[in-house]
Amino acid sequence: MGVDNVILLENLEWFDETGRELLHRLPEHGSGEIKWGAQLTVRESQAGVMYYKGRACDAFGPGRHTLKTGNIPILTKILSAPWGLKSPLRAEVYFVNLKVFTDLKWGTRDPVAFRDAELGMVRLRAHGVFNIRIVQPVLFINTLAGTMGKYTSEQVEEYLKRVIVSRFNDYLGEKLRTLFDLPGHFDALALGLQQRLTKDFVRFGLALDGLYITSITPPEEVQSAIDDRSRLSVIQDMDKFVRMKAAMAMEKAATAGGEAGAGLGLGMGMMMPGMFGGLQTKTPAQEAEVVRCPECDNTIPVDARFCPYCSHQQVVVRKCINCGKNLSANARFCPRCGHPADEKPQIAVCPHCHANNLPGAVFCNQCGRKI
Ligand SMILES: [Zn+2]
Ligand SMILES: [Zn+2]
Ligand SMILES: [Zn+2]
Repeated sequence: MGVDNVILLENLEWFDETGRELLHRLPEHGSGEIKWGAQLTVRESQAGVMYYKGRACDAFGPGRHTLKTGNIPILTKILSAPWGLKSPLRAEVYFVNLKVFTDLKWGTRDPVAFRDAELGMVRLRAHGVFNIRIVQPVLFINTLAGTMGKYTSEQVEEYLKRVIVSRFNDYLGEKLRTLFDLPGHFDALALGLQQRLTKDFVRFGLALDGLYITSITPPEEVQSAIDDRSRLSVIQDMDKFVRMKAAMAMEKAATAGGEAGAGLGLGMGMMMPGMFGGLQTKTPAQEAEVVRCPECDNTIPVDARFCPYCSHQQVVVRKCINCGKNLSANARFCPRCGHPADEKPQIAVCPHCHANNLPGAVFCNQCGRKI
């Protein structure tokens, strides 16, 4: 299917048969033209997001909507071309699934580099699960589909996993001196990582309802060096060796006791299940008739776009990448800090090995040094 393929959209609806789709674009490929007066059907726990000129501009809640110029207030403001019976609007619609997605798996595809104070550079694998929920559909589409070019659920999940691994690497680099200290620091590590990622995910319009680390696995050589007493020259301190063995005993007990590690290849790793950070899964706000304005805390209708008390923008279209302020659809600069609104987050190039890391990364995934 070519890029020039244009699909005329008259009836827009989507039913997620798999139950695993975060978002769905209509049309799936090529560009769409929406007929004036087209019907948009949004199901329960969905939002329909209008995507016009490379930008998500408005969201529709559950129900049946007739798409005309006057029914799309934000679009009306930025619409330059007239939209009528004879000239369909070149636009797409994204359906966004607002339910809680649980047990999404994250893990290192390639091991990340960790500079251990005692063992030198160690390449680690880590695995875990996370739960997410889309709370700001327009912001979600703008950051992940618009800015990052992630158009399918697989691409979005893949990207979020990379973000988690990158932050995991940063957290180890900042908080952990050596793997021998891991057993004592595991709780703090899981909690700190969750807090850090909660902030990251807010910028994507996502709520992180839980993030768990199920395993951190050093490579076989390190593992067998620890196992094999004859090669214990790397480890000077027998007390640390004993603690390491204790951590591995925990792993054995866990493997025997449950299925938590099934399929994750944890046979030789350190594993600390049950030490999960504890954010409770919240009831999605969409289920309530009213919500509270995050700015002034007054009760406002769930579908209000602006708070009637303080005018705070409720449907977040974009956020300033510098200070996080909510920006309007056509703002060119952030009114709070003056940062250009359309600037994309820059990838972090490692000054030591020149590897590309995700925006905001502190420690390089490739060489483990500080960026
Ligand atoms: Zn308010
Ligand atoms: Zn700003
Ligand atoms: Zn590097």
